[in-house]
Amino acid sequence: MDRRKFVQNSALTFGALTLAQQKIFSAFFTKGNGAAPPPWMFHMLTDKIGVFTESGGTIAFLIDKKGIAVVDAQFPTTAPHLISELKKKTDAPIKYLINTHHHGDHTAGNISFKGLVDHVVAHDNSRKNQKRVAIAGKNLDKQLLPDKVYAEFWQGYVGEESIAMYYWGPGHTDGDSLVHFENANIVHMGDLVFNRRHPFVDRSAGANMSHWMKVLHRATRHFDSNTTFIYGHSADGYNIVGNTDDLKKFSDYLGAVLTFTEGEIKAGKTKEGFLKNTTIPNAGEWKGDGISRPLAAAWDELMAK
Ligand SMILES: [Zn+2]
Ligand SMILES: [Zn+2]
Repeated sequence: MDRRKFVQNSALTFGALTLAQQKIFSAFFTKGNGAAPPPWMFHMLTDKIGVFTESGGTIAFLIDKKGIAVVDAQFPTTAPHLISELKKKTDAPIKYLINTHHHGDHTAGNISFKGLVDHVVAHDNSRKNQKRVAIAGKNLDKQLLPDKVYAEFWQGYVGEESIAMYYWGPGHTDGDSLVHFENANIVHMGDLVFNRRHPFVDRSAGANMSHWMKVLHRATRHFDSNTTFIYGHSADGYNIVGNTDDLKKFSDYLGAVLTFTEGEIKAGKTKEGFLKNTTIPNAGEWKGDGISRPLAAAWDELMAK
């Protein structure tokens, strides 16, 4: 059995493995026939919907005989790998490229879809942020900006699947969409979930941690216990796919960061001293690198109140 078939047939088994484990597993499987394993993971969650990971935010895709939809695009160096994998599966046109938000690890690869995709869709603020950051970085010519934007709700159809996008206010930025494949009941959360990994909180693009918690609570109510969630990022050893339990835990983590920060401000700490903390009380399984990012964001958010 070739590796790709093996990955498809083992979708359910793979779903239970972490990314790091998947990479080792796939490398092991490829050794037998002498081919080097590709540095990316293209893996089906259902017969039509799958995930692609290589570098940057997790990509989701829908393959229907009538068309393809892709959620997020990583980088110009990695998006062509996804496109070549999709072309092995179908000649159907790419109807939609959806951006969960504007960050470069989710939109820089948009340009690889130029001339291939019918529409690029994002929240209005995501488009504005992408354009603003590109102008500041003098690389607007390297962007493929969304041509369809929405304010609160958007819906599109590809074959038999209905794709709904929701904007519930600021969180990781001020333009984060939740993207729901309604029939499959799979939601791409973008960077609204960093699974067991300290998040980037982009205050320069309107992020708000206390409202982020509200968005996560709303997601746990709006969707259900059968919904599968896809996450922008996860810590080593944790999955990029999960359920409402992960959303609750991440919301609890954000709450723990804010509570801890508020206590430290009240205790008269300086920001400089506060940022030297290496652990956050009651932050559960969130450990490792990047702790100063949420701490600094929480400090600035609470001081701005
Ligand atoms: Zn990201
Ligand atoms: Zn992001």
